[in-house]
Amino acid sequence: MTVKRMVIVGGGAGGLALASKLGRKLGKRKKLDICLIDKSPIHIWKPKLHEVAVGAVDRSLDGLLYRDHGLKNGYRFMRGEVTGCDVEANKLQLAPVFAEDGELLLAEREVSYDYLVFALGSVSNTFGTPGALDNCILLDNLHNAELFHQKLLDALLQLSESEDKKLGIGIVGAGATGVELAAELFHVIDTVNEFGYQNVSDGHLDVHLIEASPKILPQLPERISARAQSLLDRIGVKLHIGVHVKEVTKEGFITHDDNLIPSDIKVWAAGVQGPEVCKNFTQLPITKRNQIQVDEFMRVKDVENVYAIGDCVELELEEGKFAPPRAQAADQMAHQLYKNFVGKFSGRRAEKAFEYRDYGSLVSLSRFSAVGNLMGNLRSGQFFVEGHVARLMYMSLYQRHLSSLFGYFSALIYRMAQKLLRWQRPKLKLH
Ligand SMILES: Cc1cc2nc3c(=O)[nH]c(=O)nc-3n(C[C@H](O)[C@H](O)[C@H](O)COP(=O)(O)OP(=O)(O)OC[C@H]3O[C@@H](n4cnc5c(N)ncnc54)[C@H](O)[C@@H]3O)c2cc1C
Repeated sequence: MTVKRMVIVGGGAGGLALASKLGRKLGKRKKLDICLIDKSPIHIWKPKLHEVAVGAVDRSLDGLLYRDHGLKNGYRFMRGEVTGCDVEANKLQLAPVFAEDGELLLAEREVSYDYLVFALGSVSNTFGTPGALDNCILLDNLHNAELFHQKLLDALLQLSESEDKKLGIGIVGAGATGVELAAELFHVIDTVNEFGYQNVSDGHLDVHLIEASPKILPQLPERISARAQSLLDRIGVKLHIGVHVKEVTKEGFITHDDNLIPSDIKVWAAGVQGPEVCKNFTQLPITKRNQIQVDEFMRVKDVENVYAIGDCVELELEEGKFAPPRAQAADQMAHQLYKNFVGKFSGRRAEKAFEYRDYGSLVSLSRFSAVGNLMGNLRSGQFFVEGHVARLMYMSLYQRHLSSLFGYFSALIYRMAQKLLRWQRPKLKLH
C-alpha cells in the first residue's frame, strides 16, 4: 500500500507543532509521509521576536533547525517559499532559490500532496498608511527582528561616543508586541553599560508607543491595560494614546493633528492580516484580509483534503466571533487537527470540531514585571495576575510550545539545556 503524503506549509507555532506530533505518531511508523515546507531553515517561536529584536534571543543559539528536528521527529523538511497551489492537480508551486551572490540554486519547483495544510501565519497590516512600508520595520518575521537588532546596535555605538545625542524609537501599536518591545528596550539600555557602551543610560532613550485606541492593549480587559500603562509610565515609555498615525516619514510619525513624533528607528506593530501569497490561491476562499476561510474542522471551505490553521485562517467560532491570531489558538488548532488525523488513520475516531479555549492573556514587561489574566471556571471567571506569578505563567506558554515540538520530558530537558547555555554566554547578542 502506498503511503499518503501530507504537506504542511509553514513551520511556525501551528505548523511545526502539527508536523512534530504527527511525525512522532504516524511518520515514524511510516503510516503517513509528512513533509514540512518553510522559507526559513530555522524556527524561532514568533512571540519571541521582540527578544530577537533587542538581542536577548539569538537565532544561532536559540533557533531550532528544521532538518535536524525533522529527522528526530518523523517528518521531512523542505526549504522553499510556496507561491501558488493547484488544488485540482494536488500540487504546490515553490519559488526558485538563489545563493547569496544571486546564483540560481534551485529552479521553480512543484510538490504534490494527498493532504495539504496551510500554516502560513500573518503579517503586519499598515492599513495603507503612506510611508509606513518604506520607513518602518514590521516586526512580523525573524529577518525584520534581526534588522531592528542591527539598527539598535549601530545606534548604541553612536550614543556611546557622544555626550548629548538621544535615540528616538517609535512603535506604532500598543498591543502585546508593542508593549513588550517598549519594556524590553529599557532593560537593554540598563544592560549595555556592562559591555563597554559607556555614557548610555535610559536618559538617552526616547521610546514612543503610539496607539490609536483609547487604551493600550486594546484587546485585553481594562484592569490589565491600566496596570501595564502605569508600569510603562514608570519605566519611562512615552505613551501616545488615542493618536492616529496618518503618515510616516524619515523623521518620524505624523499624527492626525499634524504633530511629528520624532523617531530614528520606526517600528510598525499594529494590526495583522494574512500573507500576500494567499492572493495567489485563486481556487481557495480568501477573505479581504488575505485569510483562508475554514470550517470548524479546519477544512478549507469547499475544497477536498486541504486544511489551514493558525493566523492565516478565518474560523468563525460563533456568530461574528473569530478565532484570534494568537499562538495559543494556533497550537490548539494544530492539536485538534493532529487528533483528527490520528483518528482517521486508525479508523477509530470521527473528526471532532475545533473548540477554542481561552486560557487568558499574559504580557511580559521584560524584567520589570508581567501582567495578565487567567481564565478560571464559569463561577470564578478571570484571575488578574502580576509579577512573578504572571512571569511564570508567561514562560509556561513557551514550555507548552516546546512540549508540542519535543514531547513533555524532552521539552523539559531542552529547556534546561538552553538555560545552562545562557549561563555561559553574553546576556545580549552583541553583533
Ligand atoms: C512579537 C510578537 C509577540 C507575540 N506574543 C504573543 C503572545 O504572548 N501570546 C500569543 O498567544 N501570541 C503572541 N503572538 C502571536 C503569535 O506569535 C502568532 O499568533 C502565532 O505565531 C501564529 O502561529 P502560526 O503557526 O499561524 O504562524 P507563525 O508562527 O507566524 O508561522 C508561520 C510560518 O510560515 C512560514 N511561511 C510563511 N509564508 C510562507 C510561504 N509562502 N512559504 C513557506 N513558508 C512560509 C514562516 O516562515 C513561518 O515559519 C505574538 C506575535 C509577535 C510578532
